[in-house]
Amino acid sequence: MKNEGIEGTERFLSPDRGRGLRAVRHFAVGELVFACPAYSYVLTVNERGAHCEHCFTRREDLFKCGKCKQAYYCNVDCQRGDWPMHKLECVAMCAYGENWCPSETVRLVARIIMKQRVTTDRTPSERLLLLKEFEAHLDKMDSEKEELNQADIAALHHFYSKHISDLPDDQALTELFAQVKSENILIRNIKMNVALMNHSCSPNVIVTYKGTVAEVRAVQEINPGEEIFDSYIDLLYPTEDRRERLLDSYFFMCQCTECTSRSKDKAKMEIRKLSSPPEPKEIQSMVHYAKNVIEEFRRAKHYKNILELLEMCELSLEKMGAIFADTNVYMLHMMYQAMGVCLYMQDWDGAMSYGEKIVQPYSVHYPTYSLNVASMYLKLGRLYLGLEKKSQGVKALKKALAIMEVAHGKDHHYVAEVKREILDQK
Ligand SMILES: [Zn+2]
Ligand SMILES: [Zn+2]
Ligand SMILES: [Zn+2]
Repeated sequence: MKNEGIEGTERFLSPDRGRGLRAVRHFAVGELVFACPAYSYVLTVNERGAHCEHCFTRREDLFKCGKCKQAYYCNVDCQRGDWPMHKLECVAMCAYGENWCPSETVRLVARIIMKQRVTTDRTPSERLLLLKEFEAHLDKMDSEKEELNQADIAALHHFYSKHISDLPDDQALTELFAQVKSENILIRNIKMNVALMNHSCSPNVIVTYKGTVAEVRAVQEINPGEEIFDSYIDLLYPTEDRRERLLDSYFFMCQCTECTSRSKDKAKMEIRKLSSPPEPKEIQSMVHYAKNVIEEFRRAKHYKNILELLEMCELSLEKMGAIFADTNVYMLHMMYQAMGVCLYMQDWDGAMSYGEKIVQPYSVHYPTYSLNVASMYLKLGRLYLGLEKKSQGVKALKKALAIMEVAHGKDHHYVAEVKREILDQK
């Protein structure tokens, strides 16, 4: 099959997974497989003022769009570059003022519609990311999601119809929303689409970003002819949970090597060593409890105060701890939440002690090169340094660095930042 323009890879049709991407040459661990500008992206409202809307560079001296006074840019070039996309929001924001509040998904869809209109020449990423080729999953959508889509379409009409002439019809919009929701990946509050690779729970690449350019690096050795797999989800959880999540959000039953071998499930569901081991029934009901508490906590974040949240974490940890080992992923999930609460309250010792419990099991449960593990080492390293525990701090930062050099590449500015932090301790 012919090469689609990104050297070293080609698209192909796999009998069970539909379209996919595979290697046509060997890639070593840490090697860049390809880089491509994101097809469409939108800076979230929370990030406004801190990042350039066009290139996502973070800097202090950004200047405002003179019309809406809400979008910020590095310079005139960035502003000009973003104008075809920004102009529709700019007029809408001016017109609606305080009442302007479309969701990020709605904003992203509006941009994609505009992008489809202004694009005449195709960039390499668009050859790979042609929206028409995204698979819509409408037939598999349940009614709850259907309703959400209707609300999104209504919001799109409400906020943009004056400014985008002839919006696509409802059928086309329903498809577009379904595509965006099933394919987009949320990274550091920034939404983008990178949807050319299939999913595996044992991925051989990781996607990171330099500004708005997606970079894809090998995290396992890849041989010619092998399919390139990215992960769409958090890989901490056991097979049953991952499959449920993938089926629910991406509409497929994962048959990856990890899901078929279930090699990590036992460690992920580790039971506490007790003189009288719990009955399978007790374990089942504790798993049920854990899943409920995770869901309840996710919702509680929006309305409970910080001390109530911490109490929720501590109570659930105590209850689950009667049966689950500290390395059990449900325990880790709640410890991670508790750590976040401690960080928010600036309880550094509390955060550190949760971090210390989390980081080892994390590096067992996640793949060898994982951004979740790197980020945990980074947080813990910085906590140690803040608490004057210099040698522990440097050790943790070096662990983060080792992963980031593979995932982000040795010349990424995050890598340079961590290196500098380590050097500062000398
Ligand atoms: Zn810029
Ligand atoms: Zn503006
Ligand atoms: Zn899987």
